[in-house]
Amino acid sequence: MLTRGMPRTGGLIHGERVDTPSYFTVVDPSTGRPIAAVARCGATEVDAAVDAARSAFDGTWRHLPAAQRARMCRAVATGIRTARQELADLETLDTGKPIGQALVDVDVAARYFEFYGTTIEALFGDTLPAEPGALAYTLIEPYGVSAHIIPWNYPLQVAARTLAPALAAGNTCVLKPAEDAPLSSVRFAQLALEAGLPPGVLNVVPGYGAEAGAPLAAHPGIDHLSFTGSRAVGRTVMQAAAANIVPVTLELGGKSPHLVFPDADLDTAADLIYRSITEHAGQNCSAGSRLIVHDRVHDELIARLARRFAAVRVGPGISDPDVGPLISARQRDRVLGYIDRGRAEGRVVAGGCVPSDPALAGGFYVLPTIFDGVDPNACIAQEEIFGPVLCVHRFAETAQALAIANNTTYGLSAGVWTRDIGLAHALCRRLQVGQVFVNNYSAAGGVELPFGGYRQSGVGREKGFEALREYSRSKAVAIRVADEL
Ligand code: NAD
Repeated sequence: MLTRGMPRTGGLIHGERVDTPSYFTVVDPSTGRPIAAVARCGATEVDAAVDAARSAFDGTWRHLPAAQRARMCRAVATGIRTARQELADLETLDTGKPIGQALVDVDVAARYFEFYGTTIEALFGDTLPAEPGALAYTLIEPYGVSAHIIPWNYPLQVAARTLAPALAAGNTCVLKPAEDAPLSSVRFAQLALEAGLPPGVLNVVPGYGAEAGAPLAAHPGIDHLSFTGSRAVGRTVMQAAAANIVPVTLELGGKSPHLVFPDADLDTAADLIYRSITEHAGQNCSAGSRLIVHDRVHDELIARLARRFAAVRVGPGISDPDVGPLISARQRDRVLGYIDRGRAEGRVVAGGCVPSDPALAGGFYVLPTIFDGVDPNACIAQEEIFGPVLCVHRFAETAQALAIANNTTYGLSAGVWTRDIGLAHALCRRLQVGQVFVNNYSAAGGVELPFGGYRQSGVGREKGFEALREYSRSKAVAIRVADEL
């Protein structure tokens, strides 16, 4: 349904705004009210965007020296920083996240362009050992056209996380933002254009997964596919990429554990366990959604967490509460469905319902919830709920804690809380996850820290220097040369 007078947001192809025969409506999750009509791109726009990216790649981008691409990436970062408040307001309006968290997202997005706008200048090939009369070396080259399909939870951060290394490495890109939160992606691409990115280097095709995402993933004109989203859709896009034999980076879901030992600093642990499941209402791939706590500190830690959860301020993102709404009515109902199921699988210690404040009735809110005494094999302990729901398990022996931590098909992040550095290190080596935090938990970490999944949490690595390798490939060259004086 389109509401009269609502702002219309187009796509962006070859530096030009693109309008489509129909639009889809985006709502403010804090109120449930429509806020924008967005171009509903499909196969036609995807074809045009891939063509634009191809000609920008062949025409200019691949030929630019790394130093020049680096400068443009840093100019994009400046553009992001200059529009900091505008982008954060848009992100909060579109995703419902507290404005303080949205401002951090904008800063992190700028950091990606600064980081890759610097490190790309240090990515070059090797000279290889070769017999006399031969010169052997590697060239590091971009893939070409890189497709980026992203989710709605951290649109700006994830767009920047995947686009910055791809662009810095010399690829041109087509971005498909999620239909629930496409606004910051389009605005960001306009800013990048204003910052000097040549037309066609970054194209945006908002739309539904089946209509814009699927044709993009299956497009024979793409050379690389980066997907961030659910495991189910990740499987589908991987199959689509297989048909064209295109490399895929997959950043999927998680069920990340905190392991808390008796000697842990419980003040810090309680604070970060709380934050890691309430940030953006738990809609975070590396949310700490499982707590595995030693018998000796179980009661004390749960009491602290229960007090903290009970005091949480829930409200519209723009008022900068502790916890904002979930992205949609569908997501709220999905989370409430898990909470209902969880009543038979554990004991509710906090939350377990929607807020009673009538002022919040229009939005998609769920109170942060703790389930204690959950069997590690229970549904709520196994499935990614993607909401503010923490499952608690107890342990007596370290081996038991490790077994519970690894008892999932996911493997994104883990937190280890102990002052025993030997124990911490032993666990780091045995946890089946892509990132371990010891005595801290910074979901996904800083831009420098490689990030990605073990097992069904994904394939490949984003962030850090590793992402530059993810978006480039090496070519080996061997030259027969005269070796005489
Ligand atoms: P989703 O998989 O439903 O959608 C992700 C994107 O895929 C959207 O843009 C969507 O339109 C598109 N899509 C849907 N169907 C498609 C299809 N058939 N072909 C191509 N594209 C299609 O995920 P979501 O609900 O937007 O996001 C939540 C999920 O994302 C969670 O599982 C979360 O853990 C994961 N996530 C992972 C990371 C990470 O870095 N590992 C980061 C953020 C979110």
